[in-house]
Amino acid sequence: MKEIVVISGKGGAGKTSFAAGFSRLTGKNAVLVDADVDAADLSLLMDSKILKKNEFKGLPTPVVDMDKCTKCGKCVELCRFDAISPDIKIDTLLCEGCQVCYNFCPEEAISLKECPMGEWYVSETPYGPLVHAKLDPGGENSGLLVSIVRKSGKALARDMKKDFIITDGPPGIGCSVISSLTGADFVCVVVEATVSGVHDMERVMELVDFLDIPSAVLINKYDLNLAACSSLEEKLGQQGIPVIGKFPYDEVFYRAILQKKTIPDMKDVTPYIHDSFEKAWNHLVSLVSKVGQNLS
Ligand code: SF4
Ligand code: SF4
Repeated sequence: MKEIVVISGKGGAGKTSFAAGFSRLTGKNAVLVDADVDAADLSLLMDSKILKKNEFKGLPTPVVDMDKCTKCGKCVELCRFDAISPDIKIDTLLCEGCQVCYNFCPEEAISLKECPMGEWYVSETPYGPLVHAKLDPGGENSGLLVSIVRKSGKALARDMKKDFIITDGPPGIGCSVISSLTGADFVCVVVEATVSGVHDMERVMELVDFLDIPSAVLINKYDLNLAACSSLEEKLGQQGIPVIGKFPYDEVFYRAILQKKTIPDMKDVTPYIHDSFEKAWNHLVSLVSKVGQNLS
């Protein structure tokens, strides 16, 4: 069983369409995980039905019992995040949950309370199971929630004897991206061939290199800036990073979303995109199968 994480340096590069399409091409041999918990949209794109709903509680937040508090000010002094006001009110938006105030209050006036911050789900889609989540607005700890959905996806894939986990990761290089990559078998980085897209991809690749995960690149909308695309291909070639496919800007990506379909379902509309998609998937599988061997 191999986990392939599909990520991009920025939103809008098309990673969700590729993750959904790849899961379709496995022939129901994958568990799909939507780790983009701040903007989870795979369930909307894939006509899914929720089978199981679970509450997500972030790290516990401190609550002061004013009947016990003597207003000694120790917690105000110790809080490194200025989350406690002089009149001992805790600002939950500033609180980082370090628990220092809880551990050092001389009156034991501070307790920790777990608050619901979202939900995570197991759903079924026409192409197999999907594990996804919804973080409440302002909900903290998206990294923890990403880790929960990935672990559940892995357990489900093991139980159902699937060969692949395809994870749609969050964009960027933040904490939730690190959570979505740690321990993955392979990373597919989707990049839009524009100057800013290439710049954002380079930052993601630094993170992927640092985590030492084998990777490949998929270039989307390559015809938006042909010069940027050829310089990108040249750089990737010099670095020995494989390019598994190149896709032009095409409205079929938006039409598929509107019809709750994946790109491989749109074969009749754009056969050449479908063929490129299949080739990209086959190339990706051949690279993933070499993980642990000498990739080339
Ligand atoms: S350390 Fe405890 S007793 Fe002192 S002000 Fe904070 S909550 Fe109150
Ligand atoms: S848990 Fe940490 S960050 Fe939050 S209020 Fe207490 S000391 Fe400050």
